[in-house]
Amino acid sequence: MVVELVSVGTELLLGNIVNTNTQYLAEQCASLGLSMYHQVVVGDNWERLAEVVQTALRRSDVVILTGGLGPTEDDLTKEVCAEVMEMPLREDSHTRKRIEDYLKNGIFKKIPDNNWKQAQVPEGAIVLDNLNGTAPGLILEKEGKTVVLLPGPPSELIPLFQEQVSPYLKKKQPEVLRSQMIKICGVGESQVEAEILDLIDGQTNPTIATYAKTGEVHLRVTARAKSEEEAKRMVKPVVKEIKSRFRDSVYSAREEETLEMAVVKLLQKYELTVTTAESCTGGLLAGRLVNVPGASEVFREGFITYANKAKRKYLDVSKSTLKKYGAVSPETAREMAIGGVFAADCDVCVAVTGIAGPEGGTEEKPVGLVYIATYMKEKVTVKKYQFKGNREKVREMAVVRALDLLRRSILENYR
Ligand code: ATP
Ligand code: MG
Repeated sequence: MVVELVSVGTELLLGNIVNTNTQYLAEQCASLGLSMYHQVVVGDNWERLAEVVQTALRRSDVVILTGGLGPTEDDLTKEVCAEVMEMPLREDSHTRKRIEDYLKNGIFKKIPDNNWKQAQVPEGAIVLDNLNGTAPGLILEKEGKTVVLLPGPPSELIPLFQEQVSPYLKKKQPEVLRSQMIKICGVGESQVEAEILDLIDGQTNPTIATYAKTGEVHLRVTARAKSEEEAKRMVKPVVKEIKSRFRDSVYSAREEETLEMAVVKLLQKYELTVTTAESCTGGLLAGRLVNVPGASEVFREGFITYANKAKRKYLDVSKSTLKKYGAVSPETAREMAIGGVFAADCDVCVAVTGIAGPEGGTEEKPVGLVYIATYMKEKVTVKKYQFKGNREKVREMAVVRALDLLRRSILENYR
């Protein structure tokens, strides 16, 4: 079953309000297993709205319109749809009564006449009582096509959709969609795709979608089936196969779990305390860790050692190392990581030193060059990275890679 969304409102076209209704409805429809190929935004104009509705009805089974159900002259969604569907407007006594009850205790001495416009419904329409406003939601059915009308304010639209439209659509489309996320870090998007090309090629059900995030790739495996159990059964072997191909690069299979959450979980699992020794990321890395509720169990302090002097003072990086190899070098990264563990008296340290730019790069050490080191169980791991992009991007990538190196080092040393 194909659904199309039509958002009505000149405010939307002018960018005065953000179209959150579309985002909400699109997400809801996807989880109901409905297909969606078009979303349209149109102003409060009779001819253009009529044309949009006609087009939508030609190519989709269900058209959901939002906005323009208010009591004023420029609210014309219902009138246009009644005309297009050839279902003339009639007063609905039940809705009139509900509007009366709704407004009776409000600000009005006498209910304004134009509110009664909202009691008019297309003949034969299903009326959805709106408990949070005056305009009712409406469902118009004709010749296998369905038009759903919902008020624009999200506080009215969301409850109406959840309580009445969603169950209605579920009945119309008994199939469900179930998906599972696989989150990968440390492998590029094109490489991820290359490794699962055989799975992606010719996929129909389940489908695999890839999403590139900063330093991460997320894969969503989605199956469509008659029941939730069946859909889950279909998703499972594909997820298992993907996991076996990416092994330790998979840091989570849970939608809501972030990279830093996975790292904190791992630290908790092995009862480890961690510290951070940061130069170019200036606290961003510690900030990401502390984002996680419960981080205090594993993280007590971190070091921001931006200048050479600070690296010496707090992390005991030797003067000769800094002089001979420079602050951005594998040697300095190594000493920062070791120094961090001793200074904070903890189990694990991750250290970052690099050139975030825009200045400070040389031919030998260009902007974007970053060394990341971990130290645990008396073992140092140092990696060299060359990131592209502006200062912000380089620092962001450095944080992601640092979290990932920390994660991998823990797996290597403690698993
Ligand atoms: P009202 O009775 O309030 O006039 P309505 O159904 O006529 O409701 P609109 O007039 O189109 O709806 O919009 C009313 C308000 O609802 C907007 O000012 C805006 O705050 C919100 N709104 C409308 N459309 C959207 C949308 N697509 N996304 C988010 N909010 C919206
Ligand atoms: Mg309005």
